[in-house]
Amino acid sequence: MKIEADYLIIGSGVAGLFFALKAARHGSVAIVTKRERRESNTQYAQGGIAAVIDASDSVASHVEDTLAAGDGLCDRAIAEAVVAEGPEVVRELLAIGAQFNEVSPGVLSLMREGGHSHARVVHADDMTGREVTRTLVRAVEALPNVTLYDHHLAVDLIVDVEGRCRGARVLDVQDGQLIEALAPVTLLATGGCGQVFLHTTNPRVASGDGVAMAWRAGANVGNMEFTQFHPTMLYDPGGPSFLVSEALRGFGAVLVNDRAEVFIDSLKTRDKVSRAIVSQMQESGAECVYLDTTVKDADETRRRFPNIYQHCLGAGIDMTKQPIPVVPAAHYMCGGVCTDEHGQTNIAGLYAAGEVAMSGFQGANRLASNSLLEGLVFARRAAGHARIEAPVGKGVKPTAGGKGVVEAAQLAERRQALREMMWNEVGIVRSDQSLQLASAEAGRMAKEIEILYDGMALDAELVQLRNLATVAELIAGSARMRLESRGGHYNSDHPERDDANWQRPTLLVGH
Ligand SMILES: Cc1cc2nc3c(=O)[nH]c(=O)nc-3n(C[C@H](O)[C@H](O)[C@H](O)COP(=O)(O)OP(=O)(O)OC[C@H]3O[C@@H](n4cnc5c(N)ncnc54)[C@H](O)[C@@H]3O)c2cc1C
Repeated sequence: MKIEADYLIIGSGVAGLFFALKAARHGSVAIVTKRERRESNTQYAQGGIAAVIDASDSVASHVEDTLAAGDGLCDRAIAEAVVAEGPEVVRELLAIGAQFNEVSPGVLSLMREGGHSHARVVHADDMTGREVTRTLVRAVEALPNVTLYDHHLAVDLIVDVEGRCRGARVLDVQDGQLIEALAPVTLLATGGCGQVFLHTTNPRVASGDGVAMAWRAGANVGNMEFTQFHPTMLYDPGGPSFLVSEALRGFGAVLVNDRAEVFIDSLKTRDKVSRAIVSQMQESGAECVYLDTTVKDADETRRRFPNIYQHCLGAGIDMTKQPIPVVPAAHYMCGGVCTDEHGQTNIAGLYAAGEVAMSGFQGANRLASNSLLEGLVFARRAAGHARIEAPVGKGVKPTAGGKGVVEAAQLAERRQALREMMWNEVGIVRSDQSLQLASAEAGRMAKEIEILYDGMALDAELVQLRNLATVAELIAGSARMRLESRGGHYNSDHPERDDANWQRPTLLVGH
Protein backbone atom coordinates (compact mmCIF):
# COMPACT_ATOMS: atom_id res chain seq x y z
CA MET A 1 0.00 0.00 0.00
CA LYS A 2 1.06 3.58 -0.63
CA ILE A 3 -0.43 6.85 0.60
CA GLU A 4 -0.48 9.70 -1.92
CA ALA A 5 -1.88 13.18 -1.30
CA ASP A 6 -1.20 16.83 -2.08
CA TYR A 7 -0.38 17.47 1.58
CA LEU A 8 1.06 15.00 4.06
CA ILE A 9 0.71 15.94 7.72
CA ILE A 10 2.63 14.06 10.40
CA GLY A 11 0.80 14.44 13.71
CA SER A 12 -2.76 15.23 14.78
CA GLY A 13 -2.36 17.83 17.52
CA VAL A 14 -3.50 21.43 17.20
CA ALA A 15 -0.93 22.28 14.50
CA GLY A 16 -1.56 19.26 12.30
CA LEU A 17 -5.34 19.44 12.50
CA PHE A 18 -5.57 23.19 11.93
CA PHE A 19 -3.21 22.92 8.94
CA ALA A 20 -5.44 20.14 7.56
CA LEU A 21 -8.51 22.36 7.75
CA LYS A 22 -6.79 25.08 5.78
CA ALA A 23 -4.90 22.91 3.28
CA ALA A 24 -8.01 20.91 2.41
CA ARG A 25 -9.24 23.99 0.53
CA HIS A 26 -6.43 23.50 -1.97
CA GLY A 27 -6.03 19.75 -2.31
CA SER A 28 -6.14 16.30 -0.79
CA VAL A 29 -4.71 15.80 2.69
CA ALA A 30 -3.36 12.72 4.45
CA ILE A 31 -2.72 12.85 8.20
CA VAL A 32 -0.62 10.11 9.75
CA THR A 33 -0.62 9.89 13.51
CA LYS A 34 1.07 7.28 15.62
CA ARG A 35 -1.68 6.54 18.15
CA GLU A 36 -5.39 7.39 18.14
CA ARG A 37 -6.06 10.75 16.47
CA ARG A 38 -6.91 12.49 19.76
CA GLU A 39 -3.73 11.48 21.56
CA SER A 40 -1.30 14.40 21.68
CA ASN A 41 0.06 17.07 23.99
CA THR A 42 -2.76 19.27 22.75
CA GLN A 43 -5.34 16.94 24.27
CA TYR A 44 -3.91 17.54 27.77
CA ALA A 45 -3.52 21.33 27.62
CA GLN A 46 -5.37 22.72 30.58
CA GLY A 47 -4.90 26.49 30.89
CA GLY A 48 -5.80 27.79 27.47
CA ILE A 49 -4.90 29.99 24.52
CA ALA A 50 -3.32 33.41 25.10
CA ALA A 51 -4.87 36.10 22.89
CA VAL A 52 -5.56 39.81 23.09
CA ILE A 53 -9.34 39.85 23.42
CA ASP A 54 -10.16 42.38 26.13
CA ALA A 55 -10.33 46.05 25.15
CA SER A 56 -8.04 47.02 28.04
CA ASP A 57 -5.34 44.65 26.75
CA SER A 58 -3.02 45.31 23.81
CA VAL A 59 -0.85 43.48 21.29
CA ALA A 60 2.13 45.50 22.54
CA SER A 61 1.59 44.25 26.09
CA HIS A 62 1.25 40.58 25.04
CA VAL A 63 4.39 40.96 22.87
CA GLU A 64 6.36 42.47 25.78
CA ASP A 65 5.29 39.63 28.09
CA THR A 66 6.32 37.08 25.43
CA LEU A 67 9.72 38.73 24.97
CA ALA A 68 10.30 38.94 28.73
CA ALA A 69 9.59 35.21 29.16
CA GLY A 70 11.76 34.42 26.11
CA ASP A 71 14.69 36.00 27.98
CA GLY A 72 16.27 37.89 25.10
CA LEU A 73 15.98 35.19 22.43
CA CYS A 74 12.55 35.76 20.87
CA ASP A 75 12.37 37.13 17.35
CA ARG A 76 10.44 40.36 17.91
CA ALA A 77 8.94 40.47 14.40
CA ILE A 78 7.66 36.90 14.76
CA ALA A 79 6.28 37.63 18.23
CA GLU A 80 4.43 40.68 16.91
CA ALA A 81 2.98 38.75 13.99
CA VAL A 82 1.86 35.75 16.06
CA VAL A 83 0.31 37.85 18.82
CA ALA A 84 -1.48 40.07 16.28
CA GLU A 85 -3.08 36.98 14.69
CA GLY A 86 -4.19 35.54 18.05
CA PRO A 87 -7.70 37.01 18.20
CA GLU A 88 -8.38 35.88 14.64
CA VAL A 89 -7.46 32.23 15.23
CA VAL A 90 -9.59 32.20 18.38
CA ARG A 91 -12.52 33.53 16.33
CA GLU A 92 -11.90 30.81 13.75
CA LEU A 93 -12.10 28.14 16.43
CA LEU A 94 -15.33 29.64 17.74
CA ALA A 95 -16.74 29.71 14.22
CA ILE A 96 -16.26 25.94 13.85
CA GLY A 97 -17.93 25.23 17.18
CA ALA A 98 -15.33 25.52 19.96
CA GLN A 99 -17.03 26.14 23.27
CA PHE A 100 -14.94 28.34 25.53
CA ASN A 101 -16.04 29.75 28.89
CA GLU A 102 -17.98 33.00 28.77
CA VAL A 103 -18.75 35.58 31.43
CA SER A 104 -21.95 36.47 29.58
CA PRO A 105 -23.32 35.39 26.19
CA GLY A 106 -20.73 36.24 23.52
CA VAL A 107 -18.19 37.59 26.03
CA LEU A 108 -15.26 35.23 26.60
CA SER A 109 -13.98 34.57 30.11
CA LEU A 110 -10.27 35.41 30.28
CA MET A 111 -7.83 34.01 32.84
CA ARG A 112 -4.54 35.53 33.93
CA GLU A 113 -1.53 33.25 34.12
CA GLY A 114 2.07 33.62 35.33
CA GLY A 115 4.15 36.07 33.28
CA HIS A 116 1.07 37.73 31.72
CA SER A 117 0.34 41.32 32.65
CA HIS A 118 -3.35 41.01 31.63
CA ALA A 119 -6.08 38.43 31.85
CA ARG A 120 -5.95 37.07 28.28
CA VAL A 121 -6.18 33.29 28.41
CA VAL A 122 -9.19 31.90 26.57
CA HIS A 123 -10.18 28.59 28.13
CA ALA A 124 -12.67 25.75 28.38
CA ASP A 125 -12.73 25.10 32.12
CA ASP A 126 -9.37 23.48 32.85
CA MET A 127 -9.61 21.21 29.80
CA THR A 128 -8.97 23.63 26.96
CA GLY A 129 -6.89 21.18 24.94
CA ARG A 130 -9.62 18.59 24.99
CA GLU A 131 -12.10 21.12 23.63
CA VAL A 132 -9.69 22.32 20.91
CA THR A 133 -9.02 18.71 19.90
CA ARG A 134 -12.72 17.80 19.92
CA THR A 135 -13.54 20.78 17.72
CA LEU A 136 -10.72 20.28 15.23
CA VAL A 137 -11.10 16.49 14.92
CA ARG A 138 -14.81 16.89 14.24
CA ALA A 139 -14.20 19.59 11.62
CA VAL A 140 -11.45 17.60 9.88
CA GLU A 141 -13.48 14.37 9.89
CA ALA A 142 -16.25 16.17 8.05
CA LEU A 143 -13.97 17.02 5.10
CA PRO A 144 -14.16 14.53 2.22
CA ASN A 145 -10.62 15.16 0.98
CA VAL A 146 -8.89 14.57 4.33
CA THR A 147 -7.92 11.03 5.33
CA LEU A 148 -6.71 10.30 8.84
CA TYR A 149 -4.46 7.29 9.37
CA ASP A 150 -4.42 6.37 13.07
CA HIS A 151 -1.62 4.10 14.35
CA HIS A 152 0.70 5.14 11.52
CA LEU A 153 4.16 6.06 12.78
CA ALA A 154 6.38 8.16 10.53
CA VAL A 155 9.85 6.59 10.65
CA ASP A 156 11.90 8.83 8.36
CA LEU A 157 11.40 11.58 5.83
CA ILE A 158 11.92 10.82 2.15
CA VAL A 159 14.26 13.36 0.56
CA ASP A 160 15.08 13.06 -3.14
CA VAL A 161 18.44 13.59 -4.81
CA GLU A 162 17.66 17.27 -5.34
CA GLY A 163 17.16 17.66 -1.59
CA ARG A 164 13.39 18.04 -1.75
CA CYS A 165 11.15 16.36 0.81
CA ARG A 166 8.74 13.95 -0.91
CA GLY A 167 6.95 12.59 2.14
CA ALA A 168 7.77 9.96 4.71
CA ARG A 169 8.19 6.28 5.31
CA VAL A 170 5.48 5.22 7.68
CA LEU A 171 5.05 2.14 9.81
CA ASP A 172 1.52 0.82 10.04
CA VAL A 173 1.86 -0.09 13.69
CA GLN A 174 -1.02 -2.57 13.68
CA ASP A 175 0.09 -4.76 10.79
CA GLY A 176 3.82 -4.01 10.84
CA GLN A 177 3.96 -2.87 7.17
CA LEU A 178 6.34 -0.10 6.15
CA ILE A 179 4.68 2.09 3.54
CA GLU A 180 5.51 5.26 1.65
CA ALA A 181 3.39 8.36 2.18
CA LEU A 182 4.16 10.70 -0.72
CA ALA A 183 3.22 14.35 -1.12
CA PRO A 184 4.81 17.48 -2.61
CA VAL A 185 4.25 19.25 0.70
CA THR A 186 4.92 17.66 4.11
CA LEU A 187 4.11 19.28 7.44
CA LEU A 188 5.89 18.10 10.55
CA ALA A 189 3.47 18.57 13.43
CA THR A 190 4.84 15.94 15.77
CA GLY A 191 4.95 18.01 18.96
CA GLY A 192 7.63 17.94 21.66
CA CYS A 193 10.03 15.54 23.36
CA GLY A 194 9.13 15.51 27.08
CA GLN A 195 9.62 11.74 27.14
CA VAL A 196 13.38 12.17 26.90
CA PHE A 197 13.29 13.11 30.60
CA LEU A 198 12.36 10.80 33.44
CA HIS A 199 9.76 13.19 34.88
CA THR A 200 7.49 14.86 32.36
CA THR A 201 3.97 16.18 31.99
CA ASN A 202 3.95 14.97 28.36
CA PRO A 203 2.17 11.82 27.19
CA ARG A 204 4.10 8.89 25.71
CA VAL A 205 3.72 10.14 22.12
CA ALA A 206 6.01 13.11 22.85
CA SER A 207 9.27 11.41 21.90
CA GLY A 208 10.81 14.08 19.69
CA ASP A 209 10.29 12.08 16.47
CA GLY A 210 9.90 15.17 14.29
CA VAL A 211 13.15 16.79 15.38
CA ALA A 212 15.04 13.51 15.03
CA MET A 213 13.60 12.75 11.57
CA ALA A 214 14.23 16.29 10.34
CA TRP A 215 17.80 16.27 11.71
CA ARG A 216 18.56 12.97 9.97
CA ALA A 217 17.15 14.46 6.75
CA GLY A 218 19.40 17.55 6.93
CA ALA A 219 17.17 20.17 8.54
CA ASN A 220 18.58 22.91 10.75
CA VAL A 221 17.67 22.56 14.41
CA GLY A 222 17.94 25.24 17.07
CA ASN A 223 17.71 26.08 20.77
CA MET A 224 17.41 22.48 21.89
CA GLU A 225 18.93 23.27 25.28
CA PHE A 226 15.88 25.27 26.27
CA THR A 227 13.61 22.82 28.02
CA GLN A 228 10.79 24.35 29.98
CA PHE A 229 10.25 22.58 33.26
CA HIS A 230 6.77 23.02 34.64
CA PRO A 231 6.94 23.70 38.36
CA THR A 232 3.78 21.91 39.35
CA MET A 233 3.17 18.33 38.35
CA LEU A 234 1.12 16.37 40.87
CA TYR A 235 3.46 14.39 43.12
CA ASP A 236 1.84 10.99 42.92
CA PRO A 237 4.50 8.26 42.90
CA GLY A 238 3.27 5.36 40.80
CA GLY A 239 0.33 7.34 39.39
CA PRO A 240 0.03 8.75 35.87
CA SER A 241 1.71 12.11 35.22
CA PHE A 242 -0.77 14.90 35.79
CA LEU A 243 -0.23 18.62 35.43
CA VAL A 244 -1.52 21.03 38.02
CA SER A 245 -2.17 24.02 35.80
CA GLU A 246 -0.52 27.40 36.11
CA ALA A 247 -4.04 28.81 36.03
CA LEU A 248 -4.42 27.65 39.62
CA ARG A 249 -1.66 30.05 40.67
CA GLY A 250 -3.31 32.75 38.58
CA PHE A 251 -6.47 32.01 40.56
CA GLY A 252 -4.62 32.60 43.85
CA ALA A 253 -3.10 29.27 44.91
CA VAL A 254 0.23 29.73 46.67
CA LEU A 255 3.36 27.55 46.72
CA VAL A 256 4.53 26.58 50.20
CA ASN A 257 7.22 24.25 51.56
CA ASP A 258 6.71 21.39 54.00
CA ARG A 259 6.66 23.91 56.88
CA ALA A 260 3.81 25.77 55.15
CA GLU A 261 6.11 28.74 54.44
CA VAL A 262 5.80 30.75 51.22
CA PHE A 263 9.22 30.61 49.50
CA ILE A 264 8.62 32.26 46.11
CA ASP A 265 6.21 34.65 44.38
CA SER A 266 4.00 31.98 42.79
CA LEU A 267 3.37 34.09 39.68
CA LYS A 268 7.02 34.28 38.62
CA THR A 269 7.98 32.58 35.34
CA ARG A 270 8.20 28.80 35.25
CA ASP A 271 12.01 28.50 35.22
CA LYS A 272 12.38 30.67 38.31
CA VAL A 273 9.62 28.85 40.17
CA SER A 274 11.03 25.42 39.16
CA ARG A 275 14.51 26.27 40.43
CA ALA A 276 13.15 27.69 43.66
CA ILE A 277 11.29 24.40 44.22
CA VAL A 278 14.40 22.30 43.50
CA SER A 279 16.42 24.35 45.95
CA GLN A 280 13.68 24.05 48.61
CA MET A 281 13.58 20.29 48.13
CA GLN A 282 17.38 20.04 48.32
CA GLU A 283 17.52 22.13 51.49
CA SER A 284 14.82 20.25 53.34
CA GLY A 285 15.25 16.80 51.82
CA ALA A 286 11.50 16.79 51.13
CA GLU A 287 10.24 14.91 48.07
CA CYS A 288 7.84 17.65 47.02
CA VAL A 289 6.46 21.08 47.85
CA TYR A 290 2.78 22.07 48.08
CA LEU A 291 0.33 24.23 46.18
CA ASP A 292 -2.17 25.62 48.63
CA THR A 293 -5.64 26.41 47.30
CA THR A 294 -7.41 26.11 50.61
CA VAL A 295 -7.46 29.90 51.03
CA LYS A 296 -9.87 30.13 48.10
CA ASP A 297 -13.59 29.53 48.18
CA ALA A 298 -14.13 25.76 47.86
CA ASP A 299 -17.16 25.97 45.54
CA GLU A 300 -15.35 28.39 43.27
CA THR A 301 -12.30 26.08 43.16
CA ARG A 302 -14.45 23.09 42.23
CA ARG A 303 -16.34 25.11 39.62
CA ARG A 304 -13.23 26.57 37.97
CA PHE A 305 -11.03 23.47 38.08
CA PRO A 306 -13.31 20.44 37.83
CA ASN A 307 -10.72 18.29 36.06
CA ILE A 308 -7.90 18.99 38.52
CA TYR A 309 -10.27 18.66 41.48
CA GLN A 310 -11.52 15.25 40.31
CA HIS A 311 -8.07 13.96 39.46
CA CYS A 312 -6.62 14.99 42.83
CA LEU A 313 -9.59 13.48 44.61
CA GLY A 314 -8.86 10.21 42.81
CA ALA A 315 -5.31 10.44 44.17
CA GLY A 316 -6.66 10.93 47.71
CA ILE A 317 -6.26 14.71 47.89
CA ASP A 318 -9.16 17.09 48.43
CA MET A 319 -7.62 20.34 47.18
CA THR A 320 -10.29 22.45 48.85
CA LYS A 321 -9.15 21.11 52.25
CA GLN A 322 -5.47 20.27 51.89
CA PRO A 323 -2.54 21.55 49.81
CA ILE A 324 -1.63 19.62 46.66
CA PRO A 325 1.83 17.95 46.68
CA VAL A 326 3.75 19.00 43.54
CA VAL A 327 7.16 18.56 41.86
CA PRO A 328 8.66 20.09 38.71
CA ALA A 329 8.79 18.08 35.45
CA ALA A 330 9.90 18.55 31.83
CA HIS A 331 7.02 20.21 30.03
CA TYR A 332 7.82 21.99 26.80
CA MET A 333 10.52 21.99 24.11
CA CYS A 334 11.30 25.62 23.26
CA GLY A 335 13.70 24.70 20.45
CA GLY A 336 13.12 22.48 17.46
CA VAL A 337 13.31 22.45 13.68
CA CYS A 338 14.20 25.95 12.44
CA THR A 339 11.46 27.59 10.39
CA ASP A 340 10.92 30.97 8.74
CA GLU A 341 7.87 33.22 9.09
CA HIS A 342 5.87 30.83 6.86
CA GLY A 343 6.77 27.70 8.78
CA GLN A 344 9.20 26.59 6.04
CA THR A 345 12.29 24.61 6.96
CA ASN A 346 15.57 24.66 5.00
CA ILE A 347 14.44 21.48 3.17
CA ALA A 348 12.25 22.28 0.15
CA GLY A 349 8.74 20.93 0.54
CA LEU A 350 9.09 20.48 4.32
CA TYR A 351 7.21 22.70 6.77
CA ALA A 352 7.04 22.48 10.55
CA ALA A 353 4.52 23.99 12.97
CA GLY A 354 3.71 23.79 16.66
CA GLU A 355 6.01 22.48 19.37
CA VAL A 356 8.30 20.67 16.89
CA ALA A 357 9.31 23.99 15.33
CA MET A 358 11.74 26.70 16.38
CA SER A 359 9.99 29.66 14.85
CA GLY A 360 11.56 32.36 17.02
CA PHE A 361 8.33 32.92 18.95
CA GLN A 362 9.21 31.20 22.23
CA GLY A 363 12.88 32.20 22.56
CA ALA A 364 14.62 30.70 25.59
CA ASN A 365 11.40 30.14 27.49
CA ARG A 366 7.72 29.96 26.68
CA LEU A 367 5.10 32.23 28.15
CA ALA A 368 2.14 30.25 29.52
CA SER A 369 -0.60 29.51 26.96
CA ASN A 370 1.49 30.78 24.07
CA SER A 371 1.99 27.36 22.48
CA LEU A 372 -1.53 26.51 21.39
CA LEU A 373 -1.49 30.02 19.96
CA GLU A 374 1.77 29.39 18.10
CA GLY A 375 0.50 26.08 16.73
CA LEU A 376 -2.66 27.66 15.37
CA VAL A 377 -0.95 30.68 13.84
CA PHE A 378 1.89 28.78 12.19
CA ALA A 379 -0.39 26.02 10.90
CA ARG A 380 -2.43 28.71 9.19
CA ARG A 381 0.65 30.51 7.87
CA ALA A 382 2.23 27.32 6.55
CA ALA A 383 -0.97 26.22 4.83
CA GLY A 384 -1.31 29.65 3.25
CA HIS A 385 2.23 29.51 1.94
CA ALA A 386 2.55 25.90 0.86
CA ARG A 387 1.80 25.63 -2.80
CA ILE A 388 1.75 22.45 -4.72
CA GLU A 389 5.00 23.07 -6.51
CA ALA A 390 6.09 19.71 -7.72
CA PRO A 391 4.51 16.51 -8.94
CA VAL A 392 4.76 13.57 -6.61
CA GLY A 393 8.20 12.12 -7.24
CA LYS A 394 9.38 8.59 -7.07
CA GLY A 395 10.02 7.73 -3.46
CA VAL A 396 13.43 6.47 -2.53
CA LYS A 397 13.30 2.78 -1.79
CA PRO A 398 12.99 2.18 1.95
CA THR A 399 16.10 0.76 3.53
CA ALA A 400 15.06 -2.63 4.72
CA GLY A 401 15.90 -3.09 8.37
CA GLY A 402 17.39 -6.35 9.61
CA LYS A 403 15.43 -9.40 10.58
CA GLY A 404 16.29 -9.66 14.26
CA VAL A 405 13.67 -9.18 16.92
CA VAL A 406 14.53 -7.10 19.94
CA GLU A 407 12.93 -7.92 23.28
CA ALA A 408 10.46 -5.38 24.64
CA ALA A 409 12.08 -5.54 28.10
CA GLN A 410 15.47 -4.66 26.63
CA LEU A 411 14.00 -1.61 24.88
CA ALA A 412 12.18 -0.51 28.03
CA GLU A 413 15.40 -0.81 30.03
CA ARG A 414 17.34 1.35 27.58
CA ARG A 415 14.56 3.89 27.43
CA GLN A 416 14.49 4.15 31.22
CA ALA A 417 18.29 4.49 31.44
CA LEU A 418 18.28 7.28 28.84
CA ARG A 419 15.49 9.18 30.59
CA GLU A 420 17.11 8.85 34.01
CA MET A 421 20.43 10.05 32.64
CA MET A 422 18.78 13.08 31.01
CA TRP A 423 16.86 13.94 34.17
CA ASN A 424 19.92 13.65 36.41
CA GLU A 425 22.47 15.39 34.18
CA VAL A 426 20.47 17.74 31.91
CA GLY A 427 17.58 18.54 34.26
CA ILE A 428 16.56 21.77 35.97
CA VAL A 429 20.03 22.57 37.35
CA ARG A 430 22.91 21.63 35.02
CA SER A 431 26.70 22.03 35.35
CA ASP A 432 29.68 21.85 33.01
CA GLN A 433 30.54 18.46 34.40
CA SER A 434 27.02 17.04 34.17
CA LEU A 435 26.69 18.27 30.58
CA GLN A 436 30.01 16.84 29.52
CA LEU A 437 29.00 13.51 31.00
CA ALA A 438 25.53 13.67 29.43
CA SER A 439 26.90 14.55 26.01
CA ALA A 440 29.26 11.59 26.01
CA GLU A 441 26.64 9.25 27.45
CA ALA A 442 23.90 10.32 25.00
CA GLY A 443 26.33 9.84 22.10
CA ARG A 444 27.27 6.38 23.32
CA MET A 445 23.65 5.34 23.82
CA ALA A 446 22.65 6.74 20.41
CA LYS A 447 25.39 4.70 18.69
CA GLU A 448 24.35 1.51 20.45
CA ILE A 449 20.72 2.06 19.56
CA GLU A 450 21.64 2.81 15.94
CA ILE A 451 23.45 -0.54 15.72
CA LEU A 452 20.40 -2.25 17.20
CA TYR A 453 18.15 -0.36 14.76
CA ASP A 454 20.18 -1.47 11.74
CA GLY A 455 19.99 -5.11 12.64
CA MET A 456 16.41 -5.41 13.81
CA ALA A 457 13.04 -5.62 12.10
CA LEU A 458 11.15 -2.32 12.32
CA ASP A 459 9.39 -1.91 15.62
CA ALA A 460 7.48 1.16 16.86
CA GLU A 461 9.22 1.18 20.26
CA LEU A 462 12.64 0.90 18.68
CA VAL A 463 11.89 3.71 16.20
CA GLN A 464 10.90 5.99 19.08
CA LEU A 465 13.85 4.99 21.26
CA ARG A 466 16.15 5.85 18.36
CA ASN A 467 14.50 9.28 18.13
CA LEU A 468 14.74 9.85 21.88
CA ALA A 469 18.46 9.10 21.73
CA THR A 470 18.95 11.54 18.83
CA VAL A 471 17.05 14.24 20.69
CA ALA A 472 19.02 13.56 23.89
CA GLU A 473 22.26 14.11 21.93
CA LEU A 474 20.91 17.35 20.46
CA ILE A 475 19.76 18.67 23.85
CA ALA A 476 22.92 17.70 25.74
CA GLY A 477 25.17 18.98 22.94
CA SER A 478 23.36 22.33 22.69
CA ALA A 479 23.28 22.75 26.47
CA ARG A 480 26.99 22.05 26.69
CA MET A 481 27.77 24.76 24.15
CA ARG A 482 25.85 27.52 25.97
CA LEU A 483 28.13 28.83 28.72
CA GLU A 484 25.55 30.97 30.49
CA SER A 485 22.12 30.63 32.10
CA ARG A 486 19.05 31.88 30.31
CA GLY A 487 15.39 30.94 30.12
CA GLY A 488 14.92 27.19 30.46
CA HIS A 489 18.68 26.52 30.53
CA TYR A 490 20.43 26.88 33.90
CA ASN A 491 24.09 25.96 34.36
CA SER A 492 25.30 26.39 37.95
CA ASP A 493 28.87 26.98 36.70
CA HIS A 494 27.61 29.93 34.61
CA PRO A 495 24.63 31.14 36.62
CA GLU A 496 24.29 34.55 34.94
CA ARG A 497 22.85 35.57 31.61
CA ASP A 498 25.71 36.69 29.33
CA ASP A 499 24.33 38.91 26.59
CA ALA A 500 27.75 39.89 25.28
CA ASN A 501 28.50 36.34 24.17
CA TRP A 502 25.24 34.44 24.09
CA GLN A 503 22.35 36.59 23.00
CA ARG A 504 21.77 34.40 19.98
CA PRO A 505 20.02 31.15 19.23
CA THR A 506 21.99 27.91 19.25
CA LEU A 507 21.90 26.72 15.67
CA LEU A 508 22.81 23.19 14.65
CA VAL A 509 23.16 23.17 10.88
CA GLY A 510 21.72 20.14 9.11
CA HIS A 511 23.95 18.07 6.88
C1 LIG B 1 -0.24 18.70 30.42
C2 LIG B 1 0.00 19.82 29.45
C3 LIG B 1 -0.68 21.03 29.60
C4 LIG B 1 -0.48 22.07 28.71
N1 LIG B 1 -1.20 23.22 28.82
C5 LIG B 1 -1.08 24.18 27.87
C6 LIG B 1 -1.92 25.34 27.87
O1 LIG B 1 -2.77 25.48 28.72
N2 LIG B 1 -1.75 26.25 26.88
C7 LIG B 1 -0.82 26.11 25.90
O2 LIG B 1 -0.71 26.99 25.02
N3 LIG B 1 -0.04 25.01 25.87
C8 LIG B 1 -0.15 24.05 26.80
N4 LIG B 1 0.64 22.95 26.74
C9 LIG B 1 1.57 22.80 25.61
C10 LIG B 1 0.76 22.47 24.37
O3 LIG B 1 -0.25 21.57 24.70
C11 LIG B 1 1.62 21.89 23.26
O4 LIG B 1 2.79 22.62 23.09
C12 LIG B 1 0.84 21.90 21.96
O5 LIG B 1 -0.41 21.29 22.14
C13 LIG B 1 1.62 21.18 20.89
O6 LIG B 1 0.79 21.00 19.77
P1 LIG B 1 1.37 20.28 18.50
O7 LIG B 1 0.27 20.20 17.52
O8 LIG B 1 2.63 20.93 18.10
O9 LIG B 1 1.79 18.83 19.03
P2 LIG B 1 0.95 17.73 19.80
O10 LIG B 1 -0.33 18.24 20.28
O11 LIG B 1 1.84 17.10 20.80
O12 LIG B 1 0.66 16.67 18.64
C14 LIG B 1 1.70 15.89 18.10
C15 LIG B 1 1.08 14.79 17.27
O13 LIG B 1 2.08 14.13 16.51
C16 LIG B 1 1.93 12.73 16.64
N5 LIG B 1 3.22 12.13 16.35
C17 LIG B 1 4.39 12.34 17.00
N6 LIG B 1 5.37 11.66 16.40
C18 LIG B 1 4.82 11.01 15.34
C19 LIG B 1 5.31 10.15 14.35
N7 LIG B 1 6.60 9.76 14.30
N8 LIG B 1 4.46 9.67 13.41
C20 LIG B 1 3.16 10.00 13.44
N9 LIG B 1 2.63 10.83 14.37
C21 LIG B 1 3.45 11.31 15.30
C22 LIG B 1 1.40 12.55 18.04
O14 LIG B 1 0.82 11.29 18.20
C23 LIG B 1 0.39 13.71 18.09
O15 LIG B 1 -0.78 13.36 17.41
C24 LIG B 1 0.45 21.91 27.65
C25 LIG B 1 1.13 20.69 27.50
C26 LIG B 1 0.91 19.65 28.40
C27 LIG B 1 1.65 18.36 28.21
